[in-house]
Amino acid sequence: MRKAGRVVAEMLAATSAAARPGVTTARLDRVARDVLEKRSARSNFLGYHGFPAVICTSPNNVIVHGIPGSYVLREGDIISLDCGAIVEGYHGDAAVTVAVGDIPPLTEKLLRVTEESLAAGIGQLVAGNRLHEVGYAVQTVAEGAGFSVVRGYVGHAIGTQMHEEPAVPNYWPGTPGPKLRTGMVFAVEPMVNMGAADTVLLEDGWTVVTADGSLSAHFEHTIAITDDGPEILTLPA
Ligand code: MG
Ligand code: MG
Repeated sequence: MRKAGRVVAEMLAATSAAARPGVTTARLDRVARDVLEKRSARSNFLGYHGFPAVICTSPNNVIVHGIPGSYVLREGDIISLDCGAIVEGYHGDAAVTVAVGDIPPLTEKLLRVTEESLAAGIGQLVAGNRLHEVGYAVQTVAEGAGFSVVRGYVGHAIGTQMHEEPAVPNYWPGTPGPKLRTGMVFAVEPMVNMGAADTVLLEDGWTVVTADGSLSAHFEHTIAITDDGPEILTLPA
């Protein structure tokens, strides 16, 4: 899973660097495909329930699952780049939201807070804790900054499948989660909206947008629980 995670990190670095004004989201998908080919890794996104690309590209009010295509990035956009890879049968999955050129201070804050909420959630991935503590930590950071946490889409366990049980909500789910043990691996992925938490699924069956049109940020890592605490697998080597 470390190998898969490093490929995902390389996809994130390459697509982030390529996300500049005038570039299409289809081009970002091509950049990610090149990394997969170079590392002899397979895509877990391509063909997943018919998904047509190796990454998800979700600009501005798109929360997650945007399909790469003809959209041209503009100065001032933000865009979530969600990348995945399979190496030797094991999956990695991670996302970042990046600014395209200059963005206003409040948008910068949305990105920073969402990344901080992910870090807070990761900090709870310690053997002996319970899984709901991850979501509670994410929610505390995001809502404490005046933003809202998406409820309809959540993180997940990950291993020989991309999406394994149990789900990892980014909020207090109302009941305590399972106890965490060394060797468990999770993809934690807060989706944080500047406005309300409500979502709308577009007619393409994939693209999830904020109901109120507000901006949304999304950060994700794949993390293993070790005897020494959480180990983020989707960081560059
Ligand atoms: Mg992902
Ligand atoms: Mg995921």
